[in-house]
Amino acid sequence: MPERRRRVAVHAPTGRDGPLAVDLLSRWRLDAVLCADIDALCSAIGSGIGVVVIAEEALTPRTRERLFSALDVQPSWSDIPLIVLTAEGELARSITRGIEAVAERGNVILLERPIRVSMLVTAVRSALRARERQFEIRDYVAERERLLESERAARAEAEEANRAKIRFLAVMSHELRTPLNAIAGYSDLLDLGIHGELSDAQRDALRRIQKSERHLLGLIEDVLTYARVETGQLKFDLAAVDTLDLVTTTEALVAPQIQSRDLRLDMSGCEAGVLVEVDRDKTQQILVNLVTNAIKFTPAGGQISIACVPDAGSVRLTVTDTGIGIPADTLPSIFEPFVQVDTRLTRTHEGVGLGLAISRDLARAMGGDLTVESRIGEGSCFTLTLRRAANGAPRLHLEAAAAK
Ligand code: ADP
Repeated sequence: MPERRRRVAVHAPTGRDGPLAVDLLSRWRLDAVLCADIDALCSAIGSGIGVVVIAEEALTPRTRERLFSALDVQPSWSDIPLIVLTAEGELARSITRGIEAVAERGNVILLERPIRVSMLVTAVRSALRARERQFEIRDYVAERERLLESERAARAEAEEANRAKIRFLAVMSHELRTPLNAIAGYSDLLDLGIHGELSDAQRDALRRIQKSERHLLGLIEDVLTYARVETGQLKFDLAAVDTLDLVTTTEALVAPQIQSRDLRLDMSGCEAGVLVEVDRDKTQQILVNLVTNAIKFTPAGGQISIACVPDAGSVRLTVTDTGIGIPADTLPSIFEPFVQVDTRLTRTHEGVGLGLAISRDLARAMGGDLTVESRIGEGSCFTLTLRRAANGAPRLHLEAAAAK
């Protein structure tokens, strides 16, 4: 209630000071009310009054206790200014114990009688201004709390929606995989001639069916893996693995594509003996995925290079290509699921935009990371950072020392 916080509660039970102060403050257009007793004053405090003006003689041990209990239950942001009208000459002598006790517990301003009008009005005004700041801070904090709360609720809702999406993906891909396995099985039987010899045209049609089936299965496997990583269902079998083994296996797996696309693969930047602590199959999957992407997005005649850069605690495996590059505005979202630069239905490259999302999730789950730098028209460089195996670094140092 804004008007209440600009109100002054006056409590001066003896003499004419109370009505006089109220009258005077009102003449200065200040909203003042007279509280006949300590209970009325305490209920004004409880209802969020702006400032209290109280006569010193009202501070008996009983009223002080009553006042303290009203102040103690104030919220933490509230520090009501208490203007105490002291007895004449009180400030020149030592301050009474009654005032001292209040000053220790409250936000006290002392005004010595006889009080000049200007002094009282100025003191009340600046106390009201300070009090207004307290309310503003309270409102600001409450507003921030409200925003944080709605942010928290929105995040929880988005997370639940994401979980529902992943559950849906997992169920759908699982359901799709079952009939697909049957298609694969029956195609294999046809291929083996179980149902009779095939003509060339039939064999050609069968090849196309099998190719599409493998492609579809690959996509479904991607979705399933993504759902498993996201729901934390994947198990990681960590061991010390030689990075050169990973790179040479990758090379063997992609060699046919490299040749058929007229590309060069350079892996001279890797040496034996640099060990990483990873799940071998999953790291292999990441590397193959990165090199397959590099192959997909590098025109004939281009080069793909794999390098290993070890340091004290980690090893960075980089896959660099001289391909089409990734536009700067897409780069920040490239690891999000289902993000592709070319979203046209007529796009020439296969995939659903899950490879990088899966790869980064896998890398992070193994304590590493996957990042990218790219320039449109010049090429891309993906950096897979992996944890160095515990015995990797010291062993290398020892070998290096022995060689000297
Ligand atoms: P997809 O399986 O669809 O390729 P990815 O998650 O592996 O999904 O890649 C997402 C998108 O990132 C690709 O569609 C492509 O637009 C872009 N991209 C990935 N790697 C490269 C690269 N080496 N060069 C250029 N663009 C790339």
